[in-house]
Amino acid sequence: MDVSILGYPIILDGQKIGVYGIYTDISERIKQEEIVKYQAYYDQLTNLPNRRIFMERLEVAIGIAKEQNKMIAVLFIDLDKFKNINDSFGHNIGDKLLIAVGCRLTNSVKSGDLVARMGGDEFIIMLENIESKDIAFNIIRRIHESFGSPFIIDGNEINISASIGTSFYPCDGEDGEALLIKSDNRMYLEKSKVEKFQHN
Ligand SMILES: [Mg+2]
Repeated sequence: MDVSILGYPIILDGQKIGVYGIYTDISERIKQEEIVKYQAYYDQLTNLPNRRIFMERLEVAIGIAKEQNKMIAVLFIDLDKFKNINDSFGHNIGDKLLIAVGCRLTNSVKSGDLVARMGGDEFIIMLENIESKDIAFNIIRRIHESFGSPFIIDGNEINISASIGTSFYPCDGEDGEALLIKSDNRMYLEKSKVEKFQHN
């Protein structure tokens, strides 16, 4: 690398004794690259992994599960009537609620399980290496229970529920996209039940 491109020579008594600026430039560039990498893989609001990293990790997990005859569960989570929160409390409170939801979801799973934000009020969880579907159903029950107590956001008591759809590898699909679509469809089925119930 030609140092003259990156920095300014330091001249003392007509002699070049060093280069100013080069180290700063490089560390700044690395910092920028780290930020770009982080933004590509993590959700800016909740700091959870995003859809991209989720799908990459899911494909890797499927590869391992295929070799070892293991089961994977994909949980698709969508908050019910989240728009009402934004409408009545404002987007700032809505955003803080999404952060708090991310924390409750993370606390409802084991440390190795992957919780990601798909975008909006949608989250997704991968449970790797599970022995039976009951393990996923227990986690879903735990998530619903955790939503049973209100969220306190800036002194506001907010009650919200979530609809959750689940799909399993290998019985519901052989690749990540198929599992995602299946869990999304089942989430909508769940939601239609919730909404019917609330209207009645
Ligand atoms: Mg929603």
